[in-house]
Amino acid sequence: MPIITSNPANAVFSTKIICGECGYFYGRKTLHSTSEKHRKVVWYCNRRYDGEEKCSTPSISEPDIEKYYLIALERLLSDKESHIADCNAKLNNESALAQLKEDRFQAEITLETLMTDIQALVQENARKSQDQQKYREKFNKLVERIDKQKTLIADLKAEELKMVGMREKLNRFIEALARCEGVMEFTEQDWGDLVKCVVVKPDTLTFEFKDNSKIEVAIQP
Ligand SMILES: [Zn+2]
Repeated sequence: MPIITSNPANAVFSTKIICGECGYFYGRKTLHSTSEKHRKVVWYCNRRYDGEEKCSTPSISEPDIEKYYLIALERLLSDKESHIADCNAKLNNESALAQLKEDRFQAEITLETLMTDIQALVQENARKSQDQQKYREKFNKLVERIDKQKTLIADLKAEELKMVGMREKLNRFIEALARCEGVMEFTEQDWGDLVKCVVVKPDTLTFEFKDNSKIEVAIQP
């Protein structure tokens, strides 16, 4: 029986390999043998040695992950042009990004106006005596609108960042496809730019790529 130790090293497969049964990430373990020569690094479901119900998904060695990745990559490259065309179609949303920026710009102008209004209200109240209940009502309404406006701006910014991130991801994906053409080897950079995750089932590995395409590879006996 091998001794199992967790290996905390931040490897390139971390948070990329998912158990198809429980949905947890696979973790990296070093299986020690009596001789250092037979030391083996494997990945398996983090819940495998956890609790009552154990997953039946298999452990995979690092050379096997690379081997199956190259099989999936070869299939991905055989249909390279259509993957690139799909990415380019998604990248053709420059106008949507410009619209988001414009919406945020307008929302920021509205916020500035509201800030000016509330300052004027406070100054006016300091200058002359007036019904304080009415003043409070006006003040609270403005505060409420300012809060809403700030939330709107934060949401628009988040959406903008998401879209920019998606565009960068797709551009890197296209570049990696071009790099891999005719060079069938495992590199950490290509793996990182191409692979979103790998879902492991008892007999298959499904590679989900960054363009959302999926390729299923059978585990060889
Ligand atoms: Zn599991």
